[in-house]
Formats: sequence, C-alpha cells, structure tokens
Amino acid sequence: MTAIPEIFSYAAYLECARCKTTYPVTDINTYAACCNQPLVVKYDYPSGFYKEDLIFREKSMWRYFEVLPVLERKNIVTLGEGMTPLLPLEKSAAHHGFADVLMKDESFNPTGSFKARGLSAAISKAKELGVQRCIVPTAGNAGGALAAYCAKAGIACTVVMPRHTPNVFKQECELYGAELLLVDGLISDCAKKVAELKQRGDYYDVSTLKEPYRLEGKKTMGYEIAEQLNWQLPDVIIYPAGGGTGLIGIWKAFKEMIEMGWIEDGHLPKMIAVQSLQCAPVVRAFYNPGGWKEGFTPQPSLANGLAVPYPFGMDMMQDVLHQSNGMAYAVSEEEIIAGVKEFAKTEGMILAPEGAAVWKALLHLRRMKVIDSADKIVLMNTGSGYKYLENII
Ligand SMILES: *Cc1c(COP(=O)(O)O)cnc(C)c1O
Ligand SMILES: [Zn+2]
Repeated sequence: MTAIPEIFSYAAYLECARCKTTYPVTDINTYAACCNQPLVVKYDYPSGFYKEDLIFREKSMWRYFEVLPVLERKNIVTLGEGMTPLLPLEKSAAHHGFADVLMKDESFNPTGSFKARGLSAAISKAKELGVQRCIVPTAGNAGGALAAYCAKAGIACTVVMPRHTPNVFKQECELYGAELLLVDGLISDCAKKVAELKQRGDYYDVSTLKEPYRLEGKKTMGYEIAEQLNWQLPDVIIYPAGGGTGLIGIWKAFKEMIEMGWIEDGHLPKMIAVQSLQCAPVVRAFYNPGGWKEGFTPQPSLANGLAVPYPFGMDMMQDVLHQSNGMAYAVSEEEIIAGVKEFAKTEGMILAPEGAAVWKALLHLRRMKVIDSADKIVLMNTGSGYKYLENII
C-alpha cells in the first residue's frame, strides 16, 4: 500500500449550479449569489483516479477521498460513515413478482441516518476553513448528525428543530452538547429562526445546499452503489426526497464516474423521488413547474425528513428527474405506517418512515408502468426506524 499524500483532493473550484460562474474552493462558501442557487464542487483529475485504487481502502465513504472536498487528511472528521450494505430483498421481491430488488440500508450510519455522510464532509471542511460555530435548521436527523460531528471536531453547534419532532431527535442533540432551539412549525419556519439568529451572531450555516459540502458527502452513495454492483448501475433508484441532496448527489456521482471512465454513459438509472402526501412540493413541481406553490398547504409528516416545503435545491432536483427519465410520487401517511410494519415482519428491518415511503411507492410505480418487474431496482432506506418508534407503534 502506498502512503496517502497529505494533500490529496482533486477539488478544483466551486460553480454556480445554474450559470456556471466559478468560485474558489478555499474560501468559506455559502451559495451562488449570482443566481440564488447552490454551489457545486468541481474536480479535475490530473494524475487520474482509478477504481482499482479502491481495493485496499478503508470501509468508509472517505475511501473516495480524491473526489471529496477536504484538502488535508488531518482535517477529516469521521465516525465511520458510509459503505453501508446493499441488501437483496429476495423475499419481498419474490412475493410481489419482482426480479431484483436491493435496499441500500443507510441506517448503519453514525447517528442512524445518511445525514452523517453529508455532515462528515461539511464539518471536515468547516474545520479545514477554521469555522468555530455552526447552525442548522433541521427536520430531525441533520441536527443530530451535525451535533455529533461538531462534538468530535470541537466546534460549537446550534440546532433549530420543529417542536413536534420525536423526542429521540432532541435528546441526541443535547447529549452531543449542542444548543437546541424548538420552533412551532416546519423546517421552513426553523430556517426563518436561523436567519434571525445569523443577524446577531457569527454562525456557519449548514442548511441543505446553502453550503456546498454536504452534497459531496451524500454523493458517496452513488459511488458505493456503483462499486457494490461491480460498476453495473441498476435500472431504477427510488429515493425519499426532502431537501434533495441525496438525489442530486447520487446523480452527480454518476456524472463524475462517467468523466473518470469508471462507468459507461448511456444507461444511467431512472431517478425517482418519493414524498409524503402531507408535503409533496417535488411532486407538485414535477407536474406543475410554474404553479406548484398555488394552494400548497404543507403539513408535518411522520417521515419528517420529507417535510421540506420549499427546498432550495428544487431546480436541481427537477433537472435530475427529467434528465434521468424519472419521476416523482407521493404516498399517504397510512401507507407509510403500514410499510414500516409489514417490512419489519417480512424482512427483519425497521425502516425509517422515509424508507417505508419508498417501499410503498415501488408497487404504485409498477402499476403506473414507470418501472417493470424485470428491472434491477435499488431502494434507499435513508435512516433507522428506531428514532421514530414513539409515533409508529
Ligand atoms: C433528511 C432525510 C431525508 C431527505 O434527504 P434529502 O437529502 O434532504 O433529500 C430522507 N430520509 C431521512 C431519514 C432523512 O433524515
Ligand atoms: Zn449563477
């Protein structure tokens, strides 16, 4: 094994998601003011990065360090995130007549959700940039993950969360030593509170897609899916979308792998976003891009990660759905609860409600002929159901 160099990322610059104006990757960055859109990290691959390089690497998302934004290895803040299993669902697939269904099970991550990936990347970068204090509006899981990585990094942390969030999400923030503020309303109301606090204090705002690096952590799911399937991508990926970083990130990973020659262009998966009928802006905008906000009355969902009424990355999400020939679909709260219960009994896994939404959407999508029984299908279970149980049993 060759030693890993001290400076080892191919991160080159940041780019506005819409107009492609570039920004330096060495500054503290938020979002692209030119177009009020997210900033995305662009890489150049000077001496190359080969998939064969991965064979002896550590079993965490940092195995892909060349295409992650942290410039110096010593700044990585890790709790072992990533390289989660891709489990075949033989029983459920056979029962419902599907040929090949796999579950990327993100409940294995630190703090019990895939938010760990994004926040490991963001807090590592924040440490590298000398940040002292972070703040985030959250529907639940991002707050706990931010609090944990800030604790490890020695960075102060403030989490702003809806009051109706289950207790475990609040308790973990307090245990990790974060300041916790509760707000009546949804994550969009928490975001208003964060904006207010930022007027008075010097906080690094880690809101979804308002800093560029959580996306980089989440994209590692795309790299892992490809690696675990021996570089043959599935036909369909079904993803529970809230702010959209996972959806956008997985697609970004596929594009980067094409650029590096790791996978072939031409047969990328259909990307499908699933939401709750309680709050389905991505579905509304998919069918009515110009008028989706009219008569929109967002409500809380048991799948709290999906209750993001006005996602900042909306345009990027819609681009992924259209470019991939995918779509967006919403399921009811009753279906979500039923999904958690039936999945636990048949597969021995307690899905997050967000994962259960994906599971229930699968059957609808076949009925609508968006997917076929013969397709190779990857479902995303984005978190652990254990954190939500007080509202499910
Ligand atoms: C945050 C979250 C989501 C939505 O993720 P985005 O990247 O914001 O789309 C889905 N599931 C769970 C469990 C979450 O915590
Ligand atoms: Zn721009």
